[in-house]
Amino acid sequence: MLAEQFDTFLIDLDGVVYLDNFALPGAVQALAQLRAQGKRVRFLTNDPRPARDEVLQLLAEIGIEATLEEIVTCGWATALHLREQGWNRVYVVGSVSLASELRRAGCEITETEQPQAVVIGCDQHVSYPHLDHAATQITSGARFVATNADESFPSSTGPRPATGALVAAVQTATGQRPLIIGKPYPSMFRAALEGVPPDARAVVVGDSPHTDILGAHQHGLPAILISPTPTVFASPRDFRAPDATLSNLTELFTPGTHHRQWSTPSFPWPEAVKAGVAAVVFNHSGHVLLQRRADNGQWGLPSGHVEPGETVNEAITREVAEETGLQVQVSHLIGVYSHPSSQSFAYPSGQVSQFITSCFRCQTVQEELHWDGVETLEAAFFSPDNLPADLLPMHPQWLADALANHPTAYIR
Ligand SMILES: [Mg+2]
Repeated sequence: MLAEQFDTFLIDLDGVVYLDNFALPGAVQALAQLRAQGKRVRFLTNDPRPARDEVLQLLAEIGIEATLEEIVTCGWATALHLREQGWNRVYVVGSVSLASELRRAGCEITETEQPQAVVIGCDQHVSYPHLDHAATQITSGARFVATNADESFPSSTGPRPATGALVAAVQTATGQRPLIIGKPYPSMFRAALEGVPPDARAVVVGDSPHTDILGAHQHGLPAILISPTPTVFASPRDFRAPDATLSNLTELFTPGTHHRQWSTPSFPWPEAVKAGVAAVVFNHSGHVLLQRRADNGQWGLPSGHVEPGETVNEAITREVAEETGLQVQVSHLIGVYSHPSSQSFAYPSGQVSQFITSCFRCQTVQEELHWDGVETLEAAFFSPDNLPADLLPMHPQWLADALANHPTAYIR
C-alpha cells in the first residue's frame, strides 16, 4: 500500500480533503489512519483568503485534527517570504484575513504610502480602484507578489475568476511578471517541509496536475493525484504526470498499490514551446562565426526566435545581422533540435521556454564584422578544429552536423 511507502504527507485541501466546506468521502477516516500510524502530515492550500486559524477551525468542524504548524496556506507562505526579504510595508489586494496574516508576520499594511511590495490575492470585494492602485505602485517600483496564480475556481454556475485572473489584469497593465508564491512554485513546498528531516520519505497528494503534481515534481518530490479518472500527458517527461492516481484518500491503504519512481529531469519545466533559429555561418576560409552571449558569457552560434509573420529563413538572416552586423546567405537546413534537456531556457523574468530550433548552414556575403548599432558585445570567426572551451553545450553537435554534410536534415 502507498501509505507504507512514505512517512511525510503534504496534502492539498481543496478537492482532496474537503470541497465547499464539506469533507470528501473517506478523507476523515484516511487522515485518522495516517495519524494512528504516526505519519507526519502537512495541509496545503492555494486559497489565499483564509488565515491559518480559520483553516484549522474548518478542519475541526469536519472532524479532522491538526495543529496550526501543520497548515500552510499560500497567504502564510507569502507572509514568510515578505519577512525573509524584509519587505515590511505592503499594499494588499485581497481578503481581510490575508491582510491580518501578513500583519502577524510583521508587515505594515498601507493604503497611502509607497509600499515595498504589492501582494495580490483574491477576494470578492476586490474592485477596479484596488487593481489601479496596485498597478500604479508596481510601476513606481514596488515588488509585484502574487499569493498564487490559479486562474479560476469551480462553482455550480461555472468557473469564477480567482487570483490568477486579478494578477493577469495587473500584469497586463504593468508589463511585469509577478513573483508567485503558491503551488506549483517552490515557496509553499519549502514552508511545508520546514522542520522535516531531509531524509524523510515525503510525498505530495493533490487533485491538480498543474499545481500539486507539477510543483511536487519541480521540488523533486513524488506526487499522487486524487482524481476519479486517470490523467494522460503526451510526454513521458511531463512534470504534471502523477506517479500514482487514486480516487480518494482511503486508497492510500489499498494493498498492492505502488507508485512510479520520479526522478527530476535536468531541464526546467517550460511553460511554452517556441520556434527558434540558429545559424552555422562559415566564411570563405571555412571558419565558423561564434558570438559571446550577453546572458551567461559563453560562446555560441548566432540564434534567436521567429517573430510573428516571419519565415525561419528571414529570422536567421535578421538575427545574424542584428547581433554581428554580417549579411549572410542561407544555404540549407542542418537539423531541427528540440530536446528539452538542451532547448529549455529560463529567463531572468522567471519565464521558461522550450525552443524547437531550426539550424541553418549559412555563408557570409561579406567577411567583415560590423559593430555599429549591433546588439552583441563580441563575435569572431573560429577554426572548427580550435573552438573556444566555453561553448554552449549543444553547439559542438550542431557544428558537427553541419560539417557532416548529411543528405537529409537531422532531427534531434
Ligand atoms: Mg486542490
